[in-house]
Amino acid sequence: MNLLDLDGRALAAFFAERGEKPFRARQVLRWVHQRFEPDIAAMSDLGKPLREALAARATVAGPTVIGDTTASDGTRKWLLDAGGGNAVECVYIPEDDRGTLCISSQAGCALDCAFCSTGKQGFNRNLATGEIVGQLWHANRALLADRVTAPWIEQGRPPITNVVMMGMGEPLANFDNVVPALRLMLDDYAYGLSRRRVTLSTSGLVPLIDRLREECPVALAVSLHAPNDALRDRIVPINRKHPLAELMAACMRYIPAAPRDFVTFEYVMLDGVNDSASHADELARLVRDVPCKLNLIPFNPFPGTEFRTSPRARIVAFQKRLQDAGLVATVRKTRGDDIAAACGQLAGQVKDRTKRRLATRIVPVSAS
Ligand code: SAH
Ligand code: SF4
Repeated sequence: MNLLDLDGRALAAFFAERGEKPFRARQVLRWVHQRFEPDIAAMSDLGKPLREALAARATVAGPTVIGDTTASDGTRKWLLDAGGGNAVECVYIPEDDRGTLCISSQAGCALDCAFCSTGKQGFNRNLATGEIVGQLWHANRALLADRVTAPWIEQGRPPITNVVMMGMGEPLANFDNVVPALRLMLDDYAYGLSRRRVTLSTSGLVPLIDRLREECPVALAVSLHAPNDALRDRIVPINRKHPLAELMAACMRYIPAAPRDFVTFEYVMLDGVNDSASHADELARLVRDVPCKLNLIPFNPFPGTEFRTSPRARIVAFQKRLQDAGLVATVRKTRGDDIAAACGQLAGQVKDRTKRRLATRIVPVSAS
């Protein structure tokens, strides 16, 4: 058993079965997720017999790192072994006022969005809870070991202050493993992040957006990318199952539970595909009734893609048109693109090493 797989409830149940008090679960959470201690024998307030019993049953199995690259802007990408020739990536994005970790939820992705490198790799498997939260565990531990500095680290808080579930995979398609990982991120005895600092991005699995609202409402980002069903059917294939009207209704239902009172809509800017003035007008009409912010993402190219990034001037004109319609629209800053760590460039390793080398080759990015 991997202790990283167990959230607070599961750990409490584990100890209850052994006739131990519930506070044992909290002690273990603190050792694992606040002190990043991998050695059960070192968990000194547990009492020797309990430590021995626990060590006979469990380990703290963090990820095996098989790649570690830092970009010129300080963005750092770890490639983590997922067994069977597969690997996933997580990305640390340092900023002046926060440290963000972009986390993967699946090895590959089955949803096959046209513009996404992960989607093009195909799907291998869901990550376990411990493999998901293990990315956060590992990043904090590695950054502390490297003596990374920031004002909040000096105050004794861990390096990672914000999590975005925006790495490889569709997090809601791995709901049962993702939600316990989110609970650990939020748990005061583990990472203690506020709901506003944990964002889950989905391409629009409508019934699971409702379940997330009921079971663990963190900040929600929705990958829109097109203002009408005809275009979205083509570039985000899940739209054929859950079209825009259904998706907008699910976003409206989410708002009362949303920690920041709005939904973020992500919109990747694809040259000549979805970036005209009339697309902007149609988009403004589509989201008119939803409390939202729009985040325009300059497309990040990867080898073999047929798409190009919209020219900068067109992105700015698109943003202005949305703003003139009364919407909040920002352009996402491209980070880590020189190590293929930018949005949509995460390819990890899905079975075939040759393919991975091609997919993670350094790609020059134009106009972003
Ligand atoms: N599967 C989830 C989360 C992972 S992707 C989702 O689709 O929302 C995180 C964001 O990056 C999504 O908005 C996704 O559509 C976007 N993205 C994918 N490929 C991209 C690319 N090549 N360039 C820029 N953004 C991309
Ligand atoms: Fe999967 Fe998201 Fe990529 Fe679409 S954009 S293929 S849902 S990871």
